[in-house]
This record gives sequence, structure tokens and C-alpha cells, in this order.
Amino acid sequence: FIKELAELKDLPAKTVDGHEVELVGNIGTPKDIEGVLRNGGSGVGLYRTEFLYMDSDTMPDEEKQYKAYKEVLEGMGDHPVIIRTLDIGGDKNLPYLKLDEEMNPFLGLRAVRLCFVEKELFKTQLRAILRASAFGNAHIMFPMISNVEEVKQAKAILEECKEELRKENISFDENIKVGIMVEIPSAAVTADIIAPEVDFFSIGTNDLCQYTLAVDRMNETVSYLYQPLSPAILRLVKMVIDASHNAGGGKFTGMCGELAGDPHAALILLGLGLDEFSMSASSVPQIKKIIRSVNKKDAEIIAEKALKLSTEAEVKAMVDDELTKLD
Ligand code: PEP
Ligand code: MG
Repeated sequence: FIKELAELKDLPAKTVDGHEVELVGNIGTPKDIEGVLRNGGSGVGLYRTEFLYMDSDTMPDEEKQYKAYKEVLEGMGDHPVIIRTLDIGGDKNLPYLKLDEEMNPFLGLRAVRLCFVEKELFKTQLRAILRASAFGNAHIMFPMISNVEEVKQAKAILEECKEELRKENISFDENIKVGIMVEIPSAAVTADIIAPEVDFFSIGTNDLCQYTLAVDRMNETVSYLYQPLSPAILRLVKMVIDASHNAGGGKFTGMCGELAGDPHAALILLGLGLDEFSMSASSVPQIKKIIRSVNKKDAEIIAEKALKLSTEAEVKAMVDDELTKLD
């Protein structure tokens, strides 16, 4: 079985009837790209850059960040690499960045919200990403976006950085793609409003579940309510995918939350039209195997069925049944 999965490495994630999707990896450091390539991932769908900040005693400067991003981009060759800007706050803190205590840190000054307040910190990172973009296929992704105004604000700051680099005669990818994480319900519900402003969406199901279902993602006592395949989440996922496709212009939707690597979800997500699945590298072969053994048309029927069910338990039972038919 292990051998069979290894043989899948160089094959595309293509359905029997020829529909291809991207299976890519989530990484935290440049070291992680080795695992993505070894498992046959065709890119990086989420580079969590906060580890660069958390593993340091001082704020990493532009040069240090540039080197790390460049290493990842060069290591991945022509493959796309989605670099997420700093997602600090919530449960993640930096010893050298003193923030006020908050009653509800997960609803507070987190990620892009913090970056708007700490604008120089944000610009340092954006400049580092832009400079590195000259060496590969970089995409920029903003986390914790709640509305279209924040997207415009983030893009305006990115534009400032581009203008600075142009004046300094420093090269970067002028056409770098810009997207957002959809991990707050308001962003999912207004995906059609946001779509014209971005090149792509990536659904962060870890936080999308937390915020939609009002379940602390780390609290064991309420974990029974944490249901990524529940009707509420499936409907939001569909809205986001449809909004990106209806906007035209090659806009796509990926997913980088845990659900993307869950075999229970694969057929439904494929059927809903998800374009890119980003997961821990070790999950890539298993999801590829599932995708290569079905017709997109049949996955669409499964997704339609799932959307008509009332509970996550029903969805899981239905999918279990479909997965055994594949074996
Ligand atoms: C998510 O929220 O699904 C996600 C991928 O981001 P993180 O787990 O880093 O919050
Ligand atoms: Mg998140």
C-alpha cells in the first residue's frame, strides 16, 4: 500500500473523467518543502510565516525574511507558493511585541488587524515577500479578512511597498497574485462582493468552523460541536467556491484548513468544485488516490447529496458508503 502511494507521486491529481485539481502542502518553515516535494505536492497552499517570528527573540528584519521566502520559492521551482502574511494574536504571541490583554483574543487584534495597527511591521514583511517574488511563483495571502474594506486596505499598503521598491530599482513580480483566507463567516457570506478584489480565496476551515459554530477550536469540552462537515460549513464552502468561479478571470478557490486533507471531505470538496487542496504533506498521496479513482460528475452528485442532508453524522455516513464503493 505504501509502495502504491509512492507511485502516485509524479501523477497528476486528475479524476477518471479528466478534471484536474491542485494538491499542495501546508508549511511552517523552509525545511518543510522537502516533505511536500517527496509526497508529490504541486506547490505550497499555505506558508504560515508566523513561525519565522515566533522562533526568534527579536523581530525578524526584512533581510532575514527575504532569505526565508526566497529559499522556499527557489526550492519549489515553478510551483505556486502562497505566502500568508503574519497571523499573530489569538493563541499566538510574540515575546518582543507587547499587546494589550484582551477579553476575547480570538475576536480581537489578530492577524491582518494587528498588521494594520503595526503598519511598519506589515510593510517590512510585504517588502520581503515582494523582493523574494522575483525568484519563483509567489502568491500573497492575507489572513483573517472580515470584509472587502480590509482587502482594499491591505492591497493599498502592498501597493505602497511596490512603489517603494520601484523607486529603489529593486525587482519583484509585478503580477504577483493576491488572495485572502476565508476563515471568518462574514467573508464567506460576502465572497461575491470580495471576489472582484482578489485573485483567489483559500478557505481556512479551522477558524471558519470556530467562528461559524462558535466553538473554541482548542476547547475539548465543546469539541463535539466542532463539525467541519456540518450543513452550515458546507453551505459556506459552496458560496465561496461559486463566488470565485462566477467572478471569472481564472479566480480560484483553495482550502488550507484541516478539512482539505480529510478523506471524508475529499469527494464533497471535489464535487463542489474546489480547485486547490492544501494539507500537511503526508496527506497528499491519500487524497490523490481518492481523486484519481472517481469521476468529477459522480463527485458532483455526492456533493449535491451532502448539501441536502441535515447533520454532519449523516454526511459522514453517506461519504463512508461512497468511499467503500471506491475500494
Ligand atoms: C485555518 O484557520 O483553517 C488555517 C489554515 O489557519 P490557522 O490554522 O493557521 O489558523
Ligand atoms: Mg486560521
